[in-house]
Amino acid sequence: FEVRATRLPARGVDGSLVMVTLHDITALRRLEQMRADFVANASHELRTPLSSLIGFTETLATSAREDSAAREQFLAIMLEQGRRMQRLIEDLLSLSRIEMEEHTPPSDPINLREVIGGVARFLEIRAREKNMDIRLEGEDAPVVVIGDGDQLTQIFQNLLDNALKYGRPSTPVVVRWTQVERGPAAMPAAVRAPCLRVSVIDQGEGIAKEHLPRLTERFYRVDKARSRAMGGTGLGLAIVKHVVVRHRGAMTLESEIGKGTTINLFLPLYEPTLG
Ligand code: ADP
Repeated sequence: FEVRATRLPARGVDGSLVMVTLHDITALRRLEQMRADFVANASHELRTPLSSLIGFTETLATSAREDSAAREQFLAIMLEQGRRMQRLIEDLLSLSRIEMEEHTPPSDPINLREVIGGVARFLEIRAREKNMDIRLEGEDAPVVVIGDGDQLTQIFQNLLDNALKYGRPSTPVVVRWTQVERGPAAMPAAVRAPCLRVSVIDQGEGIAKEHLPRLTERFYRVDKARSRAMGGTGLGLAIVKHVVVRHRGAMTLESEIGKGTTINLFLPLYEPTLG
């Protein structure tokens, strides 16, 4: 609490009165702390590949100049570190763009089957590398939500990318959509019933219960080194959550160690019925 004292105008012969008010500033402080943490985390995440780029450039400019094998190896590392910085900056820009638009709900009718189909085709080659396939399961009728096509594409890309990254080789990733009677309480009441549920289901290593509530925080990862090694930025699920909130939807996570993970998105339907 912050205590504020205000001197009121003098009254009568006893002199002035003082009004003391208590202001709850915990929420404000928490927000300030979150912003400070975010800037520190983002700077740290960018500094690591940048240091590596500078280090290898220096080595190439001096000792490794004449060694063609070393040169090739260093250039490959530098390219990867540059790409890593690019991914981070793209994700950071996406997040800030989504945040800026957070209070203007999207208004376009979007056929989600087309969005999901497009993302699945785009990731087909990646899936095949792990002998996995992406199965689409749902009603044939068009599934239309009120949305932002680019942002919806991005969140399904992030979710399927994770499912392929963390899924076990030779297992399928399933995207299943269905109309449900009621969305979770986190959804605005006006659009909660009926709504659309889209689940992205993998048969991977799963996530321990204690991590689940924190996964949508920026830069939160279960295993930092592993996520980095796989090219992750730690921002994918934060982006998903922000887009879902902007769409007046909700997101739930279910996971079991050794069995797999299911991420459910609930989105308002464009029309009261499918089709
Ligand atoms: P990243 O870029 O690290 O994948 P995300 O924000 O997409 O970042 O996910 C945050 C963390 O959540 C990941 O680092 C990983 O530990 C965990 N995670 C996300 N999706 C899955 C999944 N399908 N299976 C297991 N773990 C997952």
